[in-house]
Amino acid sequence: MKTDQNSTNNHCLDYPQTESSCAGRELAGSDRVNRSLPPETIARLIHTALDARRFSYAPYSHYCVGAAVLTEDGTVFDGCNIENASYGATICAERTAIFAAVRKGHRRLIALALAAAPEGVEPSAIRDYPSPCGICRQVMREFADPSGFKVILAKSPEDYRILTLADLLPESFGPSFLQEQADTGAEQ
Ligand SMILES: [Zn+2]
Repeated sequence: MKTDQNSTNNHCLDYPQTESSCAGRELAGSDRVNRSLPPETIARLIHTALDARRFSYAPYSHYCVGAAVLTEDGTVFDGCNIENASYGATICAERTAIFAAVRKGHRRLIALALAAAPEGVEPSAIRDYPSPCGICRQVMREFADPSGFKVILAKSPEDYRILTLADLLPESFGPSFLQEQADTGAEQ
């Protein structure tokens, strides 16, 4: 199924023009979460995710994943999945990218592009769009506004779906719950 641009735009708000797609480089930023992603930004995030996927270390699943996360100030960080002989030590591409951003002090995230396919296969060649696992959805929730954060599920720069984190993780639990609990406790 090919996603047309109109349906993709249904999930988009107005995000400012970007200037660079390279991971770790500055893109033109905004202090508002509720902005849309222009096509150029979407394409550049997808290109970055596809490029990061080349570094995937997946000797067990042979499922290679790349991700690129856009931070509030416009910086992009990329990541790939990194597996381990002790399977539980494996980390997904989304979390690799997000943790790289947090490591550099970026705690407000705007969007994440994801590209995935079995080893030796291009994401554009498979039937399904990629989808983040539950753990990664929860990690996104820690650093993003669920209704504003865009998750770009990409086969190629021309073929993708965009969902919000709220679409992927409805009725979610996040940091505010603990804060509200602490506030309530303080009032008693
Ligand atoms: Zn994951």
